[in-house]
Amino acid sequence: MAKKQFKTESKKLLDMMINSIYTHKEIFLRELISNASDAIDKLYFQSLTDSSVTLKRGDYEIRLIPNKENRTLVIRDNGIGMTEKELETNLGTIAKSGSFDFKKDSDKTEEKSEDAQKEIDIIGQFGVGFYSAFMVSSQIVVESRAYGSDEAWRWTSSGVDGYTMDPCDKADNGTTITLTLKEDTEDEKYSEFLDEWRIRELVRKYSDYIRYPIRMEVTRSRKKEDSPEDKPEYEEYKEDETLNSMVPLWKKPAGEVTDEDYHTFYREKFFDFEAPLKVIRQHSEGTSDFVSLLFIPSHAPYDYYTREYEKGLQLYSSGVLIMEKCKDLLPDYFSFVKGLVDSSDLSLNISREMLQHDRQLKIIARAVERKISQELKKMLEEDRESYEKFFKAFGTQLKYGVYSEYGSHKDALQDLLLFSSSYEPEKTETKEEDQKDEDQKDEKKAYVPTAVTLKEYVSRMKEGQDKIYYAPGETKEQIALLPQVEAVTSKGYEVLYLTEEIDEFALQMMNAYNEKTFSNVCKDDVDLSTEEEKESLKEENDLSKDLFTFMKDTIGAPVTAVRFTNMLKDHPAALSSEGELSVSMEKALNRMPGAEEGQFKAQLVLEINMNHPIAKKLKELFVTDKDRLANYSKILYAQARLVSGLSLTNASEISDLVVGLMTE
Ligand code: ADP
Repeated sequence: MAKKQFKTESKKLLDMMINSIYTHKEIFLRELISNASDAIDKLYFQSLTDSSVTLKRGDYEIRLIPNKENRTLVIRDNGIGMTEKELETNLGTIAKSGSFDFKKDSDKTEEKSEDAQKEIDIIGQFGVGFYSAFMVSSQIVVESRAYGSDEAWRWTSSGVDGYTMDPCDKADNGTTITLTLKEDTEDEKYSEFLDEWRIRELVRKYSDYIRYPIRMEVTRSRKKEDSPEDKPEYEEYKEDETLNSMVPLWKKPAGEVTDEDYHTFYREKFFDFEAPLKVIRQHSEGTSDFVSLLFIPSHAPYDYYTREYEKGLQLYSSGVLIMEKCKDLLPDYFSFVKGLVDSSDLSLNISREMLQHDRQLKIIARAVERKISQELKKMLEEDRESYEKFFKAFGTQLKYGVYSEYGSHKDALQDLLLFSSSYEPEKTETKEEDQKDEDQKDEKKAYVPTAVTLKEYVSRMKEGQDKIYYAPGETKEQIALLPQVEAVTSKGYEVLYLTEEIDEFALQMMNAYNEKTFSNVCKDDVDLSTEEEKESLKEENDLSKDLFTFMKDTIGAPVTAVRFTNMLKDHPAALSSEGELSVSMEKALNRMPGAEEGQFKAQLVLEINMNHPIAKKLKELFVTDKDRLANYSKILYAQARLVSGLSLTNASEISDLVVGLMTE
């Protein structure tokens, strides 16, 4: 029979597996058992709604059969099995996210040693499923019969040169995998995987929580019944042993589970190649009996901020999975949380529609939400570094949470928010004695927060300050340089730098924090001047009314006013806005799908620095040379737009004007 070829990327992974130098080759067994367990889960799941599945819960098993004579190890399950087509696509291709990352990396790597390191990383962190069996096998035969099908198929492969497919006989549904172990070498004793004690040890180590029995026929010895007591004779006999305790991880006493156990579980169940940032265990008795095991990932999945992402927790009823992604267990703003809930109060075959209205489920969801909230607050207080990492990944979602549903969750979420700001923590001087022991010092160095909470902002507010100042913009650096921001910060006030589109919407929805309202320094009249200064500004503005009308008319829409300000330090001019929409909100709204080009327009005010030489110049020109004044007005406005991060619609006109000035 003709050999079929593996897809290119599978070939690479295979090649890596076959020639692996990875020292934990033993994980292949965990991977195959995990696949077997998933296959049984699938059939069991089907049996909940499909009465034609006659297997009962107690009928399922995963069986291991080592055979020293043949050098084979069989892993057999009576799960859902695979059709011919599934066998080919599942075992002939790799398209899993974790392996995909590897593929990209390995293309770049030339160095052998780096390759080796990558290999260890990928096997160690993610596991590579079925293919890992090639680390220990010279040949693999997979015989499978899909549930409900009357034909069975055999897939055979000795590695990179491809695989064959033939029909075969198999009495029952499920999959039987036969590994022929590689020959032992000086460094590697593959035959140890045929030893009963070694197999037992591996199952306990990696697969203990698997909920179906993993059985193996073991050899024991006993005293022959008719042998005399003083001269006992022994005989060997075979007996089935269940190798795993079958207690799921989340039901084990906390003290018996290591971080490593949680991490492995998380990576396998939720397909992440990185360990979670936080593991949360919750045990509740009373109004509702349930346990939850929750994970906060350390990074956002690639599809997190897309429509494809589905939130939800696995839902178990007394240890049995009844729903893969129960979305009613998580509010949208915590949609990044992975994990599971196991309750004894839920009925096994409750339908999805019923579940939505289930009172117990609602109680559980509320408790889960409270717990996540508490844990995040704790992380914020006790481990700022991790929290900032968390916020980088998922903070945007929390801000959407503040904004959505008419702000009904703002109270719950406001203290979880972080913002960039103008605040710069004081640098502590290093004392001489500290330098004596460099290592120790490094360890003690406290993490310096790079963002602020609203609580921190308010605690630092200056006397008499009644508003929380903020300024929106593209980047921290750009905002810091905005004329209005400089004006406020130079007077010693802190300004929140809003760099995300959602930021301003969220703050508007909150309206106030701790009774302090928010104020956009680029839009609102932030008046930090004295009565005297105010008076002279008003005078100046009144005197120049006609000048401003001329300038406004020259520039045209969207500028609705021109005026003097005494707030700008060294800048000649700046833009602010009047009315509901700020400049940054205009940008955000126009970018939304469905918005027509330029549909949303903020009303702009061109503010001229009263104390800048340009002010005098403009006043002069108003009397002496209106043509020139018109050109200056246009250029000033263009500059102010650029500084605010807005584009120019008349760039070539402005360019001509500037060159005109340069060549005068
Ligand atoms: P993963 O388990 O990460 O999906 P694998 O390479 O281990 O990747 O397996 C690929 C696919 O092959 C599985 O997703 C599953 O659909 C199928 N498969 C593997 N082992 C079995 C099995 N024992 N029974 C049924 N299907 C299986």
